[in-house]
Amino acid sequence: MTVLLALLAVAALPARANPVAAPMAVVVATPNGETKIPVRSDPEAGPVLSAPALMLALGGKAAIDGAWADIIIARAQFRLLIDGPVYSVGGALKPLVGRTTVRRDTLFLPIQFVTHVLPTESKGRFRYDGAAGRIEEIVGPPPATASVAKAADRLPNGLRRGHVVTIDPGHGGPDPGNPGLFFPNGLKEKDVTLKMGILVRQELLKRGVGVIMTRTTDTLIKLSHRGRYCTDRCGLFVSLHVNSLAARPGYRNVRGFETYFLAEALTEDEARVAKMENDAIRFEAPGEEEVAGGLDFILKDLQSNEHQRESARLAELMQSHMAEVHTGPNKGVKQAPYTVLATARRPAVLVEMGFSTNRDDAAMMTGARSQRNLAASIADAIISYLLEYERRVGTSLATEGSGGAP
Ligand SMILES: [Zn+2]
Repeated sequence: MTVLLALLAVAALPARANPVAAPMAVVVATPNGETKIPVRSDPEAGPVLSAPALMLALGGKAAIDGAWADIIIARAQFRLLIDGPVYSVGGALKPLVGRTTVRRDTLFLPIQFVTHVLPTESKGRFRYDGAAGRIEEIVGPPPATASVAKAADRLPNGLRRGHVVTIDPGHGGPDPGNPGLFFPNGLKEKDVTLKMGILVRQELLKRGVGVIMTRTTDTLIKLSHRGRYCTDRCGLFVSLHVNSLAARPGYRNVRGFETYFLAEALTEDEARVAKMENDAIRFEAPGEEEVAGGLDFILKDLQSNEHQRESARLAELMQSHMAEVHTGPNKGVKQAPYTVLATARRPAVLVEMGFSTNRDDAAMMTGARSQRNLAASIADAIISYLLEYERRVGTSLATEGSGGAP
């Protein structure tokens, strides 16, 4: 204990030196769903979260062992000193800003456990978004660590292990998307995009690709924040939407699927769809100017780099794979200035899976079997793109490892 006390003296940090204002609650997102856990302000320990609630959400275990709290999450073990500003992982003692504490027989963990400890100690398995107050478990295979891609690093489908992509179910919360004229049971666009997003995730996991979701519940994520989910480890970004037309003669006969990449609109119809999807911004609370210089600035930036070419190729593959299962016409690859695609720093596309204003398209996007087929085709398109990408940059991968590659 003397050794420990000496270490504490060195490692101790002021308990309330919490540089970032703590959120009111933390959202824990795992493959099993999302849980909102309130943040309690403890006069001595600082902002804390109930350990039992957190363990339930993360599928972990917490136990008190003498002076320590033992936490096991995803096979990783953490020990946090009760009423002390340290934690230990893998035998190393590290400082903590807040404190672990016990109140009325309940163990409480400092908020830094989710904002700092889990993301930094989990080797990429957990990611904390400070702006959203959200910790997400990134499901899927761990990133390949070897610098040379060996045969053993490959999946049965030929892909290197460790790819992660972002799936963005359009709209959500107060923004219903389009009203879904022919969707059954009062379903709106936001419900169908969420269902399809979750199915696409399942299909990608089956194919060995990890998935970050911008949302897994009926919540609104700002358009300009969605692309930010695709950073560092993320290879590409796919936003899922449902098309619709305003009432006019024959509008219910129009059906089919199309995939957009970010660029200036060339046709009236491209401009119309972009206007419709960008309009989701009116549901957002007013905030800081999100995109310095506006969309035009980003467009100029993107036009000169390879993102546009890569995104266009991803869009092409999306269309050709969807064509195998979609019963409507292939309306092709299109381009338009989408806010949601502007902040992604990786190849990014927006898929309009069909028209809710067409009876057959609507049935296809809501039927269990056709949904599954559509999700599988979208996952296949992503795999095709990643395989192509790997082949193209094959030689540089061998020297650069997984850094920067999708
Ligand atoms: Zn939409």
